[in-house]
Amino acid sequence: MPITGARPSPLSHDPNLGHYMVSGITARRVPFNVLAPGVQAIRGELDAAIGRVLDSGWFLMGPELEAFEREFAAYHAAGAQAVGLGSGTDALRIGLLALGVEAGDEVLVVANAGVPPVAAVVAAGATPVFCEVDPATHTLEPAEIDRRVTPRTRAVVVVHLYGHAAPMVTIVERAHGHGIKVLEDCAQAHGARHGGKLVGTWGDAAAFSFYPTKNLGALGDAGALLTSDPQVADAARLFRMYGWRHKYVSEVHSTVSRLDELHAAMLRVKLRHLDEWNATRRALAERYLAGLPAGLEAPPRDGVFHLFVVQTRARDALKAYLAERGIGTDVHYPLPAHQQKPYQRYAQCGLPTTERLAREVLSLPLYPELDTADVDYVLDQLRAYGA
Ligand SMILES: *Cc1c(COP(=O)(O)O)cnc(C)c1O
Repeated sequence: MPITGARPSPLSHDPNLGHYMVSGITARRVPFNVLAPGVQAIRGELDAAIGRVLDSGWFLMGPELEAFEREFAAYHAAGAQAVGLGSGTDALRIGLLALGVEAGDEVLVVANAGVPPVAAVVAAGATPVFCEVDPATHTLEPAEIDRRVTPRTRAVVVVHLYGHAAPMVTIVERAHGHGIKVLEDCAQAHGARHGGKLVGTWGDAAAFSFYPTKNLGALGDAGALLTSDPQVADAARLFRMYGWRHKYVSEVHSTVSRLDELHAAMLRVKLRHLDEWNATRRALAERYLAGLPAGLEAPPRDGVFHLFVVQTRARDALKAYLAERGIGTDVHYPLPAHQQKPYQRYAQCGLPTTERLAREVLSLPLYPELDTADVDYVLDQLRAYGA
């Protein structure tokens, strides 16, 4: 939604300023993200879902969760099972535990996807072993599996970053060749396909986040684990709630991490719109891709564009330039996990590609409610900058 208004100041050094003032063009503001319009567009459906839960008087572990789990699993694959959990980070942690990861095991993980994947490995009691990413796709470099695997390696976490699928055929082949499990992190890639097959159906299990900004977002914290292995699903259900199969009887140690009825009901509504929202994201991304100036490196063209990330050496200058023109941007992510204070001690060596990308990536506004005119405005500013 374009919000017209006064141009942000100060812009006295801006050579374009006079042009804009003289021609009387009203400046746009393009926020990095806005969530309210997306909610408004389906307000009636959400109100009905919320009303249903309020009327039922049942708020945890009830029919809405069961229905959402069934629908989310069916969306992905016949025979898949979904286990609703409290967040995406918990889905990663519980996914690792359900795949048999134990204290002292090693888990391969990238460092360019924020802190959650690494935090989940540590929370599961395992040791993260950092892997480099492919500079073209920003996802796990498959050869790293062969390089970093040891007799203690139990699993690899594969992140489909920015909505682009990692090369799963190669990754699964190599990981299973070493006898290690594959946990997909689909937090940024709901509905993305790789070779015609949905992400989340390639590995031994997949973690999803429904954080509000994700392609499928709740109105608060929520997550899920997806798997086609009934034993993994069963274990995840135990870890979801005190190790209970039967109420008050703990079979394994665990705390609690549930997806509540309200969020399940709202996610059922939003799941029905996911493909249409992803198609809109893709159309907007195509518009960006067609108009980007030559100096900016563009992202891969496949996927569901959770984020539209460009690359430039002069990232910080470009970010400031766009901010002065009312365009919100963000960096995903500025400090790689292996350089973060709590996780530095697991870093066995530098990760030059990961570190370079952290200095060069910039996320432009991209969400289903973004106007094509907003995209054109951003492109105009990028071309004027000569990025
Ligand atoms: C958002 C995100 C998570 C964590 O999800 P939460 O629901 O916020 O815990 C994990 N991995 C990736 C790649 C994410 O983007």
